[in-house]
Amino acid sequence: MEWISESRLIAETFLFLVIDFLPFSDQTITVTRFWRNLVFFGFLLTKPKKQRKVLLHMSSSTQSQVNREIIERLVREQVYAALKKPMPRQSPNKLLVNISARHCHLTQEAVEALFGPGYQLQPMKDLYQHGQYAAKETVTLIGPRSRVISNLRILGPCRNLNQVELAYTDSITLGFDIPVKMSGDIAGTPGGMLMGPHGYFELKEGIIRAQPHVHMHPDDADFYGVKHLDTMKLKVHGPLAMTFDNLVVRVDSTFKLEVHIDTDEGNACGLKPDTFCELTK
Ligand SMILES: [Zn+2]
Repeated sequence: MEWISESRLIAETFLFLVIDFLPFSDQTITVTRFWRNLVFFGFLLTKPKKQRKVLLHMSSSTQSQVNREIIERLVREQVYAALKKPMPRQSPNKLLVNISARHCHLTQEAVEALFGPGYQLQPMKDLYQHGQYAAKETVTLIGPRSRVISNLRILGPCRNLNQVELAYTDSITLGFDIPVKMSGDIAGTPGGMLMGPHGYFELKEGIIRAQPHVHMHPDDADFYGVKHLDTMKLKVHGPLAMTFDNLVVRVDSTFKLEVHIDTDEGNACGLKPDTFCELTK
């Protein structure tokens, strides 16, 4: 941590103090509230004339709304300008933290058993990771005690193994325990039965609770100083602030910077689209 100078530490602390003080509701706040807070912290006094004009113009419109990203950038710039320090090195890509709802990955063989010979998945919505999509098709998962979860979304394209990713609450619904595993590490995990409009497909294994993880391009891994399968911490701010200590890093040249947690984890930390999150080692 020696690369963080004392003044930068002070600046960062102050920045987060300001950010956390701002009265966010949903994803936006009014510029007026933002303006009042900035004045409260004495930023106005240090602002050059031109910036003062821009901010005054912004504050005059109570209808305008600013998202957290813009506010963060403005405050960060002001803090560093006030300290007469250069802006710190920025991560190459914006950190996204997304909740993965329960879903499955299937082989083409399984898709054909469930939907008919020669059937191809129909993409419904592109996911953030390149080439990945939520398919129109869903299946029904039947657990070992004959309890079911219907409308289990299939994520495409097809893979070379079958895997169902559930939250812990889902496994309670189904009446059995599931292990926390990295995607693909399914040897010895519980199985179940999938039901589609054409037929059934028996999963011998492959029902897991996905280990919280972060997808990274090699540039992101360089920035954070980590390598494939290292673990990092994810600090989630907000009223239910908490830190995930075992976030597993997955590096691939096709990946974009994105954290995946499940619905239980997302609900526990109150994650919203504008929740401020930080990745640390
Ligand atoms: Zn993922």
